[in-house]
Amino acid sequence: MITVEEAEKTIQAELRDYGVEIMPFELTLGRVLAEDIKADRDLPPFNRVTMDGIAVNYDAIENGVSSFHIKATQAAGDPPGVVHEPDHCIEIMTGAALPLSVDTVIRYEDLEIRAGLASVLISPNHIKKGQNIHFQGRDKKQHDIVAESGQIISPAIISLVASVGETELRVKKMPRVVIISSGDELVEVEQIPLVYQIRRSNNYTVKAVLQQHGIEAAMLHVPDDPEITKRLIQQCLLNYDVILLSGGISMGKFDYIPKALEELNVQQLFHKVEQRPGKPFWFGKHENGVVVFAFPGNPVATFMCLHRYFLTWLQATLGLKPQPAAYAVLDRDFNFLPALKYFLQVHLQVNESGQLMATPIEGNGSGDFANLADTNAFMELPLEKNHFAKGEVYRVWMFKGLF
Ligand code: AMP
Ligand code: MG
Repeated sequence: MITVEEAEKTIQAELRDYGVEIMPFELTLGRVLAEDIKADRDLPPFNRVTMDGIAVNYDAIENGVSSFHIKATQAAGDPPGVVHEPDHCIEIMTGAALPLSVDTVIRYEDLEIRAGLASVLISPNHIKKGQNIHFQGRDKKQHDIVAESGQIISPAIISLVASVGETELRVKKMPRVVIISSGDELVEVEQIPLVYQIRRSNNYTVKAVLQQHGIEAAMLHVPDDPEITKRLIQQCLLNYDVILLSGGISMGKFDYIPKALEELNVQQLFHKVEQRPGKPFWFGKHENGVVVFAFPGNPVATFMCLHRYFLTWLQATLGLKPQPAAYAVLDRDFNFLPALKYFLQVHLQVNESGQLMATPIEGNGSGDFANLADTNAFMELPLEKNHFAKGEVYRVWMFKGLF
């Protein structure tokens, strides 16, 4: 049996590159950007007025002018007006391009306007040259990189991309993933199970987690039958980049999956990890490049392994920088005696001092998936220890915040 760290290292040595694809930019939220986005012109592209009011020449203020004749009104989107005399101004709106002949904007709140004459109500000392203007190129210059390749496309990046006029984006291609559940006791969701049957569920959890990361995975089911198992996995080896199996890898008489994989020339890189839940976890690769993660069927084990091993693999495969590890404070004593690394289900919450606090919500072992809904992270408790004291800090794996 290998350690969690050895398992992680073995998996991280099997990164893949699935290339890039081009997509309409509005559909790329959550994908990994595969090109640098450059400004097509300065940002802002012109001296943009940031307050509604009047645009004047600051020299006039310095020379004691305090009332200005309004010569024109300029809305956002209007071409810039022109001012010729020191005591003339343009009534101007937020978002308008500042005319060349003026350099300062005085907001309505500091004015009284009557019969086309705007009188300044505040002392000239309180007016600064260039005020209320967001100057051209202040944020970025033309051709500057506004968003770097190799990051998750967030709503803010979508906005940047839109502002520089990119209608299509190069993004990292996602692997084609198939989720295969196994077990004769499992029936379809819409079926009424017999007393000794259960509905399959954890494959849907896996699918949902993948959806959160931009992958639309296919889903298949195999009964506990060696021939069918083999045939189905064989087809998947031809049609997918990643196979995620759940169940059928333990010591049970009907756990046929490791043998089927072996017969299909999927090289076992490890089987069994010193961890709970998820001890029987199996990982391997086919010579055609397909990677196979075979998780134990217990829903909590599948869920933990998916976060701890598959998502970290996916993140690295997509060329994302590893997220800095997150840590939390255990908020009560906890004991775990077996010589395994324990992934404790916890509920994380930030307290009034800004500390991330972890409350253990243990449930009834790895089959208790009802408990999962009350938790939002796993806390990784070191193998070497058995007693974990309130106040001690350990690494956590958050369900949604991984990347
Ligand atoms: P196994 O790893 O095949 O021995 O399965 C361990 C436990 O997880 C058994 O109680 C299975 O019924 C359960 N299980 C396996 N696959 C699923 C699934 N897709 N949905 C819900 N429970 C499952
Ligand atoms: Mg089974």
